Amino acid sequence: MKSRQVLLAARPAGAPRASDFRLVDVELREPGPGEILVRNVYMSVDPYMRGRMNEKQTYAQAWQIGQPADGRAVGEVVKSQNPRFAVGAVVVSNMGWREHFVSAGEGVLPIDRGLAPLSAFLGVLGVPGFTGWYGLKEIGRPKAGETLVVSGAAGATGSLVVQIGKILGGRVVATAGTDDKCVWLTKELGADAAINYRKAGDLAAAVRQACPQGVDVYYENVGGAILDAVLAIVNPFARIALCGMISQYNLETPPAGPGNLRNMVGNRVLMQGFIISDHMNRYPEFLAEVGGWLKAGRITYQETVVEGLDRAVTAFLGLFAGDNTGKMIVKLGPEPAEASGR
Ligand code: NAP
Repeated sequence: MKSRQVLLAARPAGAPRASDFRLVDVELREPGPGEILVRNVYMSVDPYMRGRMNEKQTYAQAWQIGQPADGRAVGEVVKSQNPRFAVGAVVVSNMGWREHFVSAGEGVLPIDRGLAPLSAFLGVLGVPGFTGWYGLKEIGRPKAGETLVVSGAAGATGSLVVQIGKILGGRVVATAGTDDKCVWLTKELGADAAINYRKAGDLAAAVRQACPQGVDVYYENVGGAILDAVLAIVNPFARIALCGMISQYNLETPPAGPGNLRNMVGNRVLMQGFIISDHMNRYPEFLAEVGGWLKAGRITYQETVVEGLDRAVTAFLGLFAGDNTGKMIVKLGPEPAEASGR
């Protein structure tokens, strides 16, 4: 049986390009004893994958040139010689960037289809949502009435952070890169103010104006000028969760360090980075809480869905241009029928 997958073809300098990847046909073998064959239905493209294109090992394993890329995916078990997986089961895996895979089942987990549409397990109920929930609750620790600033707020992670901030009683100020995203953030997600950082002009002044009581919690997805603007007006005992710094992922030379760091001293500010894979033991707790909010209609989400493995690279590159509202998803094939009890 033929299938297709995406390989890393070259390591980028600066911004990644389509030519850094190659789509190839592969021959799939039949699953042997203890193995399953999975047809991927959705795959995730994520900003952290930019780091995996580099040679240098970071917290995530570097992709190798000539080898398939990988990442989160949701798929259907189509053949099984493993008693843990029934044919028709819907599973999440780390075997994205390919249409099918054969596996012994390590790292492949069944998902509860009744909880949400399948693609949600890559976004609001997947790693991005989990990251936002963990970083906000464990590092940000917002209290009712406090001011929370969220950058990258219209993305997969940020859009959940905004909504949890509101559920916890915060005053939420969001930043994003288009007016439409800002409208979604204020009108549908409940943000108290949203700043289009591309149009704001004097970003520090815009953040100051949107946060008349200063900033108690900052959820950082972006880095650069927004961090400087927040650090200029942090309140005593503010908490800053460093989730990501997408504005820097394509830079070859690190920028000069953030300004206004001195304010952290007198204000006793806590700033902490974190990597969500260190906290996977908390995933069931996240799924119960955020899955419950989703079912109850207390939170909502958007996805930008790109069709076909041949457009996966476009979707990935689009993350750095702000092409997505909510989670960027690649749809690889039809959803398995629900009528069959799957
Ligand atoms: P996302 O926010 O859904 O997508 C990326 C968004 O970043 C784009 O839509 C774009 O929105 C914004 N962006 C791109 N380039 C930018 C720039 N130069 N300046 C400002 N904004 C820019 O992606 P995500 O998966 O939810 O990830 C969000 C952040 O969380 C990333 O930094 C990621 O690395 C981090 N993350 C960390 C962990 C962890 O374990 N620590 C786990 C998951 C994700 P605009 O239109 O607003 O520019």
